[in-house]
Amino acid sequence: MSRAALAMIHLGALRRNLARVRELAQGAKVMAVVKADGYGHGLERVARALRDADAFGVAAIGDGLRLRAAGITNRIVVLSGPDEPADLAELRRLDLDAVIHHQSQVDWLAADRGTRPLRLWLKIDTGMHRLGFAPERVAEVHARLRALAGVDPDIVLMTHFAASDEFDRDLTTQQIARFDAVTADLPGAHALANSAGLLGWPRARGQWVRAGGLLYGLSVVAGKTGSDLGFEPAMTLSTKLISVNCIKRGEHVGYAATWQCPEDMPVGVAAIGYGDGYPRSAPSGTPVMVNGVRAAIVGRVSMDLIAIDLRAAPDAKVGDRVVLWGRELPVEEVAMHAATISYDLTCGMTKRVLFVEDDSE
Ligand SMILES: *Cc1c(COP(=O)(O)O)cnc(C)c1O
Repeated sequence: MSRAALAMIHLGALRRNLARVRELAQGAKVMAVVKADGYGHGLERVARALRDADAFGVAAIGDGLRLRAAGITNRIVVLSGPDEPADLAELRRLDLDAVIHHQSQVDWLAADRGTRPLRLWLKIDTGMHRLGFAPERVAEVHARLRALAGVDPDIVLMTHFAASDEFDRDLTTQQIARFDAVTADLPGAHALANSAGLLGWPRARGQWVRAGGLLYGLSVVAGKTGSDLGFEPAMTLSTKLISVNCIKRGEHVGYAATWQCPEDMPVGVAAIGYGDGYPRSAPSGTPVMVNGVRAAIVGRVSMDLIAIDLRAAPDAKVGDRVVLWGRELPVEEVAMHAATISYDLTCGMTKRVLFVEDDSE
């Protein structure tokens, strides 16, 4: 028998989340961001469910290749563009858009002899200071790119927010103002908002929005779950109890004996651990659902196993299902206990987890 850890992907949730993103986008086109294997939900699976998206955003040309091989014909944008000159031919062959964020890429394009016009997105660094051209260089780079024979002159102007999940933060206001100033006299569509930009920064819509997290029902807004924001979780991670024992008061559970039983009590063991992608940083007290009842893990997360305080579910027995996150339990809550964000958890599932599709609604 294979291991019991199971990631159920709810295709209907993905579709409804896209429809909700569209409402928020108010007419702007929607790029569905599917980097990191669709935030861990499965690249091709997500793209098939979200065929209505106006484009897909991927982190690497290899992901574009996978989508084309799967028969996806939507526009696909490689969010960090070419990594080396040879990538230009590959982008053309696969009909992928490229984000241009660095002078080295402009030089490769200028030296390139390819003729089929490449569609480009010009990334402007308005304050995140990760990728992009400084505002004072944008007009010159834009003109240079438009003049190249192998470039489609219809270039999308984009920027990325550093802190749009904090709705009262001046940094985003400043980033929008810098973007507006530098693009005022340039032709081309605008693309600013990520998921949090879409929720909290109506001025940041432009003609394109780039949504990732919300499509999967994930929130990065502190203290809010995806459901709080009107989105549905697209992944339910579950496993089975493989042991239930009564452990005596004063005894310790798990590696390093970090947790002590306050009374004689039932302790369950479920077949999932950090070898499956369940976070090792999840401390005692992190919630799980057992037979629809909220329980908590106790002791250290092991490679293959977690221990669960079953006092809230005293009838639980071997074979019963344990939900780690998803429909019954917001992944944001688990992420908070594990001192990380929901994205990190859904992206972290390992090959050992069995993925199944729920297309029931
Ligand atoms: C990941 C990413 C997004 C999507 O961000 P979410 O917060 O998940 O919506 C948008 N734009 C760029 C450039 C990204 O790298």
